[in-house]
Amino acid sequence: MHIVQKAERVARTILSSMPIYEFDCRECGARFEELTRAGASAACPTCGSDDVERRFSPISEPRVPVGLFGKAAAESNARRKEREAQRQERFREDRKRREKG
Ligand SMILES: [Zn+2]
Repeated sequence: MHIVQKAERVARTILSSMPIYEFDCRECGARFEELTRAGASAACPTCGSDDVERRFSPISEPRVPVGLFGKAAAESNARRKEREAQRQERFREDRKRREKG
Protein backbone atom coordinates (compact mmCIF):
# COMPACT_ATOMS: atom_id res chain seq x y z
CA MET A 1 0.00 0.00 0.00
CA HIS A 2 1.12 3.53 -0.72
CA ILE A 3 2.60 5.26 2.33
CA VAL A 4 0.25 8.26 2.10
CA GLN A 5 -2.85 6.11 1.92
CA LYS A 6 -1.56 4.12 4.86
CA ALA A 7 -1.04 7.29 6.92
CA GLU A 8 -4.52 8.52 6.08
CA ARG A 9 -6.05 5.20 7.02
CA VAL A 10 -4.25 5.20 10.35
CA ALA A 11 -5.38 8.77 11.02
CA ARG A 12 -8.97 7.95 10.13
CA THR A 13 -8.91 4.91 12.37
CA ILE A 14 -7.71 7.03 15.29
CA LEU A 15 -10.32 9.71 14.57
CA SER A 16 -13.17 7.25 14.21
CA SER A 17 -12.31 5.55 17.49
CA MET A 18 -11.86 8.91 19.24
CA PRO A 19 -14.60 11.28 18.05
CA ILE A 20 -14.49 14.97 18.90
CA TYR A 21 -17.22 16.13 21.21
CA GLU A 22 -18.11 19.66 22.16
CA PHE A 23 -18.73 20.34 25.84
CA ASP A 24 -20.20 23.17 27.86
CA CYS A 25 -18.88 23.59 31.38
CA ARG A 26 -21.73 24.01 33.88
CA GLU A 27 -19.27 25.43 36.40
CA CYS A 28 -17.70 28.33 34.46
CA GLY A 29 -19.54 28.28 31.15
CA ALA A 30 -16.46 27.52 29.05
CA ARG A 31 -17.00 25.67 25.80
CA PHE A 32 -14.37 23.22 24.66
CA GLU A 33 -13.79 20.29 22.40
CA GLU A 34 -12.38 16.97 23.49
CA LEU A 35 -11.43 13.75 21.84
CA THR A 36 -13.25 11.22 23.98
CA ARG A 37 -14.52 7.72 23.71
CA ALA A 38 -18.24 7.37 23.14
CA GLY A 39 -20.11 7.96 26.36
CA ALA A 40 -17.04 9.27 28.15
CA SER A 41 -16.97 12.70 29.76
CA ALA A 42 -14.21 15.26 29.98
CA ALA A 43 -12.89 17.79 32.46
CA CYS A 44 -13.13 21.53 31.77
CA PRO A 45 -9.71 22.85 30.69
CA THR A 46 -10.54 26.26 32.17
CA CYS A 47 -11.64 25.42 35.72
CA GLY A 48 -10.97 21.68 35.91
CA SER A 49 -14.57 20.81 36.77
CA ASP A 50 -15.97 17.58 35.40
CA ASP A 51 -19.51 18.95 35.66
CA VAL A 52 -19.76 19.38 31.91
CA GLU A 53 -22.50 18.88 29.37
CA ARG A 54 -21.90 17.27 26.01
CA ARG A 55 -23.46 19.36 23.27
CA PHE A 56 -23.26 17.41 20.05
CA SER A 57 -22.34 13.86 19.31
CA PRO A 58 -19.92 13.93 17.63
CA ILE A 59 -18.92 17.04 15.63
CA SER A 60 -19.37 16.08 11.99
CA GLU A 61 -16.16 17.59 10.64
CA PRO A 62 -13.06 16.88 12.71
CA ARG A 63 -10.64 19.79 12.66
CA VAL A 64 -7.85 17.87 11.06
CA PRO A 65 -6.49 18.80 7.64
CA VAL A 66 -7.86 16.49 5.02
CA GLY A 67 -5.21 14.89 2.86
CA LEU A 68 -1.66 14.47 3.98
CA PHE A 69 -0.40 13.95 7.48
CA GLY A 70 2.93 14.40 9.19
CA LYS A 71 5.94 13.04 7.32
CA ALA A 72 3.99 12.46 4.10
CA ALA A 73 2.84 16.09 4.09
CA ALA A 74 6.37 17.36 4.74
CA GLU A 75 7.79 15.24 1.93
CA SER A 76 5.10 16.39 -0.44
CA ASN A 77 5.83 20.03 0.39
CA ALA A 78 9.56 19.46 -0.12
CA ARG A 79 8.94 17.89 -3.53
CA ARG A 80 6.64 20.75 -4.52
CA LYS A 81 9.28 23.31 -3.46
CA GLU A 82 11.93 21.46 -5.46
CA ARG A 83 9.73 21.35 -8.57
CA GLU A 84 8.94 25.03 -8.20
CA ALA A 85 12.65 25.88 -7.88
CA GLN A 86 13.43 23.88 -11.03
CA ARG A 87 10.59 25.60 -12.87
CA GLN A 88 11.91 29.05 -11.90
CA GLU A 89 15.42 28.02 -12.92
CA ARG A 90 14.20 26.96 -16.39
CA PHE A 91 12.21 30.17 -16.66
CA ARG A 92 15.29 32.29 -15.89
CA GLU A 93 17.38 30.35 -18.44
CA ASP A 94 14.69 30.75 -21.08
CA ARG A 95 14.52 34.47 -20.44
CA LYS A 96 18.31 34.81 -20.63
CA ARG A 97 18.31 33.00 -23.98
CA ARG A 98 15.52 35.22 -25.30
CA GLU A 99 17.35 38.36 -24.15
CA LYS A 100 20.53 37.25 -25.91
CA GLY A 101 18.75 36.12 -29.10
ZN1 LIG B 1 -15.18 25.20 33.63
